[in-house]
Amino acid sequence: MTAQDEKITLMHGAGGTVMHELVKNYIVKTFHGIGTAEVSLEAMDDAAVVGDIVFKSDSHAVKPIFFPGGNIGHIAISGTVNDISCLGAQPMALACGLILEEGLLLSDLELVLSSMQEACTQAEVGIVTGDTKVVEKGTLGGLVMNVSGIGKRTQALDHNLEIVRQTREFNARWTLDSNLAKGDKIILTGTIGDHGLAVLSAQQGLKFGSDIKSDVQPLNRLVQTLLGKVGGIVAIKDPTRGGLADALNEWSEKSKTGILLEEDKIPIRQDVQTACEMLGLDPLEIGNEGKLILGVTPQKAQETLEFLQKTPQGKDAQIIGEATQQFRGVAMQTLIGGKRIVARPIGDPIPRIC
Ligand code: MG
Repeated sequence: MTAQDEKITLMHGAGGTVMHELVKNYIVKTFHGIGTAEVSLEAMDDAAVVGDIVFKSDSHAVKPIFFPGGNIGHIAISGTVNDISCLGAQPMALACGLILEEGLLLSDLELVLSSMQEACTQAEVGIVTGDTKVVEKGTLGGLVMNVSGIGKRTQALDHNLEIVRQTREFNARWTLDSNLAKGDKIILTGTIGDHGLAVLSAQQGLKFGSDIKSDVQPLNRLVQTLLGKVGGIVAIKDPTRGGLADALNEWSEKSKTGILLEEDKIPIRQDVQTACEMLGLDPLEIGNEGKLILGVTPQKAQETLEFLQKTPQGKDAQIIGEATQQFRGVAMQTLIGGKRIVARPIGDPIPRIC
């Protein structure tokens, strides 16, 4: 029973344990068991699967709406496209709901829309329906939006699953959080922390003495190419709010396996590392908008890595660890030789990054 005076805080939207508890104990609890889905609300995966259609909805309230390397429109398209891609599906169509705040400059709206157009073109998926509302001047920060989308299974996904089945018994039909098994390698497609720090610099007017830009980008074409040309990928996830720490803990919990990381393998820009040290932030907990973690069979990990490193979106990719049955949870072999637990963060240390 909820106490009468309990209120929503920013932490409830920050992608860590506080948000997961809210979603589980209020939203999933309320709608549990109504309707049928192959991958349902209870799975709390990147998207749902209903009758072979992958279905996703994502709202965006990034503050400010413009930041180095992108804006709210670019994130809204990429976020939904990437979540659909995480199940191994190809996005087919998007819907966009805009909530505009009185006073928003029409020229700013135009800039946001043109970014959305650019991201849609990159992802090769269109907005086919939507809705627009306007609210009185308040605290929206200009505008918020929702982008929902549907995706379909592809021959590339089937090819990928076939490759996995050549090496072990594997019944999953999608690349889900729960698919990881002992020995699977964890590949990270690029540097961490860029997006969160880019938004933080815009929020606080901070200059980090360099140009840290958001990594926001749609990754569906990369995913489909990997699935079709290499194969052997069992799980895909985008480490957004809560960062790598949250995403890996989610895999670990749902797959009932431990994950051991190697700190020296985790790609991070020097300026991001320095800024994190200066601000007391853990880069593992900072959200990204253009990166993926892949769980890959040991037989295909090296080939996947080499393939990725030849692509612009994966040039900094590394094998950062592997799944193990020696312990539960996520641990990291540190640079100084010890091991530390990588706990699920309470929330992303930077609010309203997406
Ligand atoms: Mg996701």
